[in-house]
Order: sequence, then C-alpha cells, then structure tokens
Amino acid sequence: DQFGIKSALKRLGITEENKGTCTGNNWIETKETFLGSFSPADGELIAKVQLTDKQSYELVVKQAQEAYKHWRNVPAPQRGEVVRQIGNALREVKSDLGKLVSYEMGKSYQEGLGEVQEMIDICDFAVGLSRQLYGLTMHSERPGHRMYEQWHPIGIVGIISAFNFPVAVWSWNSMIAMVCGDVCIWKPSEKAPLSGVACQHIIAKVLKENNLPEGISSLIVGDYKVGEYLSHDTRVPLVSATGSTRMGKLVAQAVGGRLGRSLLELGGNNAIIISENADLDIAIRGALFGAVGTAGQRCTSTRRLIIHDSVYEEVKTRLVSAYGKLVIGNPLDEKNHVGPLIDTDAVKMYQDAITKVKSEGGKELVSGGVLEGKGFESGCYVKPCIIEAENHFEMVQHETFAPILYLMKYSKLEDAIAMQNGVPQGLSSAIMTLNMREAEFFLSVSGSDCGIANVNIGTSGAEIGGAFGGEKETGGGRESGSDAWKAYMRRQTNTINYSDSLPLAQGIKFDI
Ligand code: NAD
Repeated sequence: DQFGIKSALKRLGITEENKGTCTGNNWIETKETFLGSFSPADGELIAKVQLTDKQSYELVVKQAQEAYKHWRNVPAPQRGEVVRQIGNALREVKSDLGKLVSYEMGKSYQEGLGEVQEMIDICDFAVGLSRQLYGLTMHSERPGHRMYEQWHPIGIVGIISAFNFPVAVWSWNSMIAMVCGDVCIWKPSEKAPLSGVACQHIIAKVLKENNLPEGISSLIVGDYKVGEYLSHDTRVPLVSATGSTRMGKLVAQAVGGRLGRSLLELGGNNAIIISENADLDIAIRGALFGAVGTAGQRCTSTRRLIIHDSVYEEVKTRLVSAYGKLVIGNPLDEKNHVGPLIDTDAVKMYQDAITKVKSEGGKELVSGGVLEGKGFESGCYVKPCIIEAENHFEMVQHETFAPILYLMKYSKLEDAIAMQNGVPQGLSSAIMTLNMREAEFFLSVSGSDCGIANVNIGTSGAEIGGAFGGEKETGGGRESGSDAWKAYMRRQTNTINYSDSLPLAQGIKFDI
C-alpha cells in the first residue's frame, strides 16, 4: 500500500462492503446487489457498495419529507452554523478524502486535494450566505400598502452528480441548499460511489452532534435507474443534475413533464482564442493545463485552440514540445502530470474520436494511443494528443471526455469568435490577449456566448465565488457562488394592507 490508501479508506469509514442507502446516520439494507468500485489507477477493486432499491428509496423520501418540516424552521444563520461545522469536518479529512477521490476517479492527488478544498470553500461561502438570503422591497402603487418579497426553501433537492467531480459537485449543491432550508438526496455517479459513501459519513457525524433528525442529507446509490427515481418524483421539486448533455435532456424532459424545476450542468466544448497580441508564455501554460489536466475529463477542459495565423507556428511548436515532456502515470504519484481515464469505455471513446476526426481530415501533431505495460495494467492510461482540425468537423462539434486538443487558425477576431461560439455547447471560453479592445470585444454582447468567459486565464479552474454554468447544450443552470442560491428557493411576493380601506384593482366597485 505505497500511497496509504488502505488507512485512508479506514479513516473514512469505508469497508469491503458498504451500504449505499442512508438518511443521515441510518444506513439501510436493501434487496439489491453490490456494485464494485474499481480504481482506474491500478484496476483494483477498492470496495463494494449496495445499490438502492425502490423500497429503500421510498424510506429515504419519507424521511426527507419529515426532516424538511423541522429543518425549514431552523433559522438560516443556525443552519449556517451546521454548515460551518461540516466545513471543519472536511478540513480534518482533507488528505484522506483527496486521496480517495484521486484513487477512485483517477485525477491527480493534488487535484483531489483541490476538490476537497473547493468543498471547504463552498461551506465558508454558504455560512456567510446564511445571513444574506435577501429579498427586495418595492413601493406599492396603493396607499397604505407595503410590498416585499421573501425567499422560502423549496423542499427536497435531488442531486445527481458526474464521476469527474465526485465530491465537489455535491457540496456546491447541498451546502447552499442546506442554508436555504432544503433537504437533499444525493445520487453520486455509479463510477465513484465510494466518494459518496465517505461524504455521507463525514456529514452524518456533524448532523448527529447537532441532534438533527434523519433525512436532512441522504444518499442513494445506483445508475440512471436510481437517478430516474428522482427525476420522475413529484415530491422532489428541484433536481440538480451534472453530467452529459444526453443525460441532461432525459432529466429535463422527465422533470419538465411534471413541471418540476431542474438545474442542469452539462457538457462543454471549450475554446481558447490565442490572439497575435497574446503573452504566449501565459497562453501556452493556460492551454496545456486546460487540455491535459484531469486527463481532459473536466467539463471546462480546453478542447479547442483558435490561434491567430501569425503566431500559429510558434504556438504549435511550443505545445508539441511541452506535450513531449508530459509524464503519464499513477495519479497518486506527484511526479506524474497525467493520470488515467475513468474506465476502458472512456478509452474506447477516445480512440474512436481520434479515428473519426482523422477520417474527416484531421492531422495528428502529437499522436494518441493507449499505454501498456508496467504501471498501466488498468488499461485506462492514454496519451494526450493534438490534432489539427476544422471547427465544422463532426468530432470537433462533439465533447469527447478525454485529452484530445484540436488546433485551428483564424485571421480576423470576428471569425475566431464565430468559431468559438459555433458549437452546440456553451460552458467556458477564454481569450489570450494584451489588447484591451480585443479583450473587451470578446466579453461584449457580440463576443463569447458562454456562461464563463475569461481573459488571460484558461477555460478551467473556476472559483466558487462566481456563478458556475453554461448556455445552450450545457443546460443553462448556475451553481455555487453569486446569487445561484435563488435556484434552491421559492420566491414569494407579499402585499400588506395597513390602511382602513381596500381599493380594488381597475377601480371596480361592489355593493356590500
Ligand atoms: P453521465 O451523464 O454519464 O452521468 C452523470 C450522472 O447522471 C450519473 O450519476 C448517472 O447515473 C446519471 N444519469 C445518467 N442518465 C440518467 C437518466 N436518464 N436519469 C437520471 N440520471 C441519469 O456523465 P459522466 O460520464 O458521469 O460525466 C461526464 C459529463 O459530465 C461530461 O459531459 C461533463 O462535461 C459533464 N460535467 C458537467 C459539469 C458542469 O458543471 N457543467 C461538471 C462536471 C461534469
């Protein structure tokens, strides 16, 4: 156990066989089988988790409904105090949880730690927010009347998360939802269920210490079928789902069909425009980090570089040279830059994408391929590759969740922006330029159409203080900072008449 995984698992409460259904501290036995979680780092079985069945799901929802009646009446700043303690509990287990995330999902240990830090940060943010759930007051048009709005919690929030941020996405949703007065039911990705079990243990302890009822934060485990329990359930007014656009369309239809609310965080196809006025050191660092970080498995990964033709050759040469120095290997070993893909299905998609884009006319500048031999036994390690391509190619229009970077040229900024926007997705975007006119044009209404638009930093690595999300096929949802909390509450407009008459609208008069 070179990296101390076994002891970390033990401290996180993970055993060989874990229950996967829990209402807080109460872990429920189900009639379902156990799902094995295998590490893409070494292909080993880490541990098993029991799937949730319909019957146990019903128990979870009933408990959540009960808990909501209590939790919504706890004053928001007191709810914030509980979240503050969750943040502290996360600080205590940061290295263990970071290690589990790295081992179960395959991102580097540093990135695993970064993910847990994001959880801590969102707790801090939510604590402050718990005293700032502001509504507006308005001047009534009627004399002797007062009008204002208030924000009430919405009820049960269903959280469906993706494998690539197996713990942070839960906290972005649940910590904000909790201070808002909601209760949460989380279905983590079936590709990283142990990260979910570990988080449940962490939060359960805090809830118990505060004598809070079961049902405030629950866990269910399974694949899309268990996700569908949430999306079809009228008792779950809000479903926040993170994952592929394919999944988002299905969840949106199911939730929309019952006129529920969905908050969707789906795929991206993010580009960096490198202008002739760019600081190329910054541009290349930003592009490299965005393209190969998390082995290209971030929703904000850089997938396209749109480069001014006057600097194209230089950028290309420097990138090819930087790719040549990348060290691929076990994500827990800090000397490696690039870890594995999540599983062999993802490897197959990566290979198919390269084959297809080449058949469309793409030219490999840095070849891809699957690594074999010692250290690569899991079959999940691939080489980050660079392909010269055109924006209209089918594969370029599509998000392949792997380290494939497409290079293309432009000569006029308007064309570069049209290319940047000319994909179905609209998550993150960036321009590298020291020219103020170019930067401001890129950020203007005629510029990037994405939810995130950056200048002189790459497409990945958003801060929790801003609202996170994107347009078009990325789903339109916003999570995390700014006023994203409003999605987790319902707005109520209140008018109070303190006068001694009741003026009716449109001057209507009744004889009474
Ligand atoms: P995925 O769509 O395969 O699965 C995501 C989650 O949805 C899983 O928990 C899965 O069980 C569930 N699910 C799948 N089909 C469902 C259905 N019909 N009903 C209910 N639930 C269902 O995605 P993945 O492979 O885990 O993650 C990668 C994708 O996630 C990429 O497209 C990436 O861009 C996206 N992502 C987006 C963001 C964002 O914030 N925009 C963040 C992280 C990941």
